[in-house]
Amino acid sequence: MSCEGTAQDPEIFRCRMCGDCCRGYGGTALAKEDIDAISRYIGVDRRRFLQEYCIVSGPRILLTQSSDGRCIFWDKLCTIHPVKPSMCKAWPYLPAVLTDPSNWKAMGSVCPGIRTDLPEDVVLRCVRTKIKKRRLSKAS
Ligand code: SF4
Ligand code: SF4
Repeated sequence: MSCEGTAQDPEIFRCRMCGDCCRGYGGTALAKEDIDAISRYIGVDRRRFLQEYCIVSGPRILLTQSSDGRCIFWDKLCTIHPVKPSMCKAWPYLPAVLTDPSNWKAMGSVCPGIRTDLPEDVVLRCVRTKIKKRRLSKAS
């Protein structure tokens, strides 16, 4: 049991829908399956999607950003929510938090949905559980 939102097992994150994570911060990287899923979802072929909605940055393919620095798919909310990139789906339950729990506080400084007032063991337990669930659902 973890992140149940109870006094014994508090919720460690609740998205405030502010969109701050959809702006800047090195851009949103796409995995191959993200490219396929988003192209299908918005009804363009893969090639056109890569040309019109992506940029290449070294080895990474990133979603382009609007002039205000926000992701091209941000419009008061994520307009591709059902197929948003795995990087966006994973936030904020990242393996980097398990590697170094101080990352949780650093992430909290840019994401108002992250609770930074909880003991480290509570955060770690919840992040570990969420990552495990994500892996299990991907495998099934
Ligand atoms: S910055 Fe955090 S609270 Fe704001 S939209 Fe992103 S995940 Fe949600
Ligand atoms: S794909 Fe959606 S959730 Fe991800 S950065 Fe763009 S607008 Fe935000």
